[in-house]
Amino acid sequence: MERRKVTFKLYPTASQRKRLDGWVRLHAELYNAALQERIEAYRKAGISISYYDQQNTLPAIKQFRPELVELGSHALQETLRRLDRAFQAFFRQVKAGQTPGFPRFKSSARFSGFTYPDPSGWKLLQQGPRDGTLRLGSGKDAMMIRLRGRHRFAEFTPNDLTLSRRRNLATGEDQWTASITLRVPASVCARQRTGDEAVGVDFGLEHWANFDDGSTLDNPRWLREALPRLAALQRQRARKRRGSHRYRQLSQQIARLHQRIADRRRDFIHRETSALVQRCALIATEELTPKNMSRSAKGAVEAPGRRVRQKAGLNREILSVGFGMAHQMLQYKAAEAGTRLHLAFTRQLKPSQRCSGCWAVVPKTLNERWHLCPHCGCSLPRDQNSARVVLLDAWTPGHTPGTGVAARLKPLPAQAAKPRSKTRETPTTTATAV
Ligand SMILES: [Zn+2]
Repeated sequence: MERRKVTFKLYPTASQRKRLDGWVRLHAELYNAALQERIEAYRKAGISISYYDQQNTLPAIKQFRPELVELGSHALQETLRRLDRAFQAFFRQVKAGQTPGFPRFKSSARFSGFTYPDPSGWKLLQQGPRDGTLRLGSGKDAMMIRLRGRHRFAEFTPNDLTLSRRRNLATGEDQWTASITLRVPASVCARQRTGDEAVGVDFGLEHWANFDDGSTLDNPRWLREALPRLAALQRQRARKRRGSHRYRQLSQQIARLHQRIADRRRDFIHRETSALVQRCALIATEELTPKNMSRSAKGAVEAPGRRVRQKAGLNREILSVGFGMAHQMLQYKAAEAGTRLHLAFTRQLKPSQRCSGCWAVVPKTLNERWHLCPHCGCSLPRDQNSARVVLLDAWTPGHTPGTGVAARLKPLPAQAAKPRSKTRETPTTTATAV
C-alpha cells in the first residue's frame, strides 16, 4: 500500500459556508479552552495536563455543549492533539536550548481548519469525469459539499481528511479545500510510460532545466515576468511608512502576487516532471543540497549591474523553492512509472567542473558559462556539460568517486494508529450524577 495525498477545491453553498465557519469557530474555541486549561492548571496547582486528560473530558463537555456533537468526536480529539503537538514542539525546543514561543491562543478568523484523523464521519463521492461531492456527517444533517476534480486512483481506501480555509486575496472570499490521504495499492499508482529515453538534467535559474542534448526548458514566461513586478512592488513598499494606508495596500498586492506565483509554479513543475518521467527510462541529476541551490542562483547572474544582488536574492528565494519541489515530484513519479532516477553526489563528482569528454576536472568560476576543455577540446555550454556528466555517471557507476545513488522513496511514515485504538473516550454516564 502506498499513501497519496489528493487535494480538491470545495464549492460550499452560502449556508454550508456559514455552517463550516461555525465549525471552525467551535474548533478554535476548543483549542483555546484547552490551552487555557493547561496554563491555569500549571499556574494554580503546578499540574501538567496531558492530552489524554483533556480527551477524557470531551464527553462531559459535549453534554452541556451539544453543538459540538456534529463535529465528530475524532475530529475534536484531533484538535486537542494539535494543541498537544504544539506543546511537544515547545518543550522539545526548550530542551534543545532554544527560546521558542509559547503555544498561542488563536482567533477563529486565523484558525485554518480541522481534521478528521480517520475515515469516519465523512465520505468522498466521485461522479462523472471531473466532479464529486464530499459528505460530512451522516443522516439528514449531513452536508453534501460540491467539489471539482477527481483523483486518478481506481482503487483506494480513504485514510484522513483535512478541511482548510484560506482567504483568496484576489476575490476576498474564503477558499475551502479538502486534502485527503488515500491508501492505494502500488499497482494502482503505476504510471504509463511512453518512452525509454535516458536523460541528464541540470536544474538552474537561467533556464529551469538544461538537458544533456543541449535543449533547455524555461520557466513559464508569466513567472519570469512576475518576478520583476514583485521586486518593483517591494521597492515601492519600502519607501512607504510602515502601517500607512498605502503600505497596507501594497502589502496586499504583494501577498496576492506571491500566492499566484506559488500556484502557477507548482502547476508548471507538476506538468513538466510528469512529462519527463513519462518519456524516460533513466533520469540523471544532481542530489539536492542547499549549496547546489545557491550556486545555481549565483550562476544565473550573467551581466552584473545595479541591484543584481538584490534581484538575485529574490529570484533565488522564489525559484529555488521549485528545485526541492521538482526533486520531490520526480522521486515519487519516477517510482510510479518504473523510471530510474539517478542522483549524483555533487561534491565528489563536481558536475560543473568535470569535462564530459575526457572526465578531467576543469575548474571554472561561477560566471563562466561555457565549458572549454584544454585537454580534449570539448566545447559546450556549461549547464549542458553538467547534464552530460551526471548522465555518464548514471550509466557507468563505479568509474568515479562521484557515483550517486538511485533515488528511493522514503519509507512511509508509520500509519497513524488504527481508528479504534484512538478512541479512548470513556462514556461518563455517572459523571453528572455524582
Ligand atoms: Zn576534456
